[in-house]
Amino acid sequence: MLKHPLYPNGNIYLSGGMQFAQGLGAGWRQLCSERLKDLGFFPLDIAELDIAYSEAHGHLYRFLSDDELLQRKSNIRKHFIETDINLIRNDSDALIVLYDESVRLGAGTTSEIHEAFMHDIPVFLINSFKELNQVPGWMQAETTMIFNEWDALYKYFAELPPAILKRDVYGNRRSGMHYLCSLCGTVEEKHKTHYVSKVSPLYCKSCVELVKATHETHYDRYRFFLDYFEKTSVQEWLNSRPQPTSEELFAAIRARKAPIKVKGKSKGKKTK
Ligand SMILES: [Zn+2]
Repeated sequence: MLKHPLYPNGNIYLSGGMQFAQGLGAGWRQLCSERLKDLGFFPLDIAELDIAYSEAHGHLYRFLSDDELLQRKSNIRKHFIETDINLIRNDSDALIVLYDESVRLGAGTTSEIHEAFMHDIPVFLINSFKELNQVPGWMQAETTMIFNEWDALYKYFAELPPAILKRDVYGNRRSGMHYLCSLCGTVEEKHKTHYVSKVSPLYCKSCVELVKATHETHYDRYRFFLDYFEKTSVQEWLNSRPQPTSEELFAAIRARKAPIKVKGKSKGKKTK
């Protein structure tokens, strides 16, 4: 995990549109980086890094035409997807996401949010649209908190207990006796003892009740899907078989009623 001696509260990856954003989305990242540094967080500004790389080693795919799709795919796989995902998975304690039109046009931010979610890395999203429902439900579910304006986000970060976004030795996001809830982002105090194993994801008391109700009041959707496929595939298989005629069915019924012949009990001559 990347560490900065001046910013001990955690590494925050700044995720948002680049390909379709003005100036690669460098503007908001710069402002956000300054505010985060004031609060003791280390910003991972991917736009700044991308510009620095291009200056040192040139562009990676912009010069490639549509006819060079395979080379373009290969370059993006290696130098964008692999690199950015590694930075999230290995070196980020949380993500701040600016969700705007440029994100909708691209695919990177959505994938980064998903990657963070899959590794239990908190996602704090700024919704630049007026309504909550303009953020897709799937994406809403993968966030820890959604804000409508930057000041509210900075206030939240300023009030977090020191370094609570970082994992402790057991893998929990903890500061002293305080733990961060993965579902609602509130900080909950635990009394007496710490968790001595990883709790994943970690929920506050009210979210535990909520998650319990979610699991227990609805039939498991994945289980339902498997049952559904099993039932429909058996039915499909049965339908694909030649259907017996009524004469064949009667013959089968008659055969069932016939006395059962037992082998080896005939009165015929035994042969040696
Ligand atoms: Zn909670």
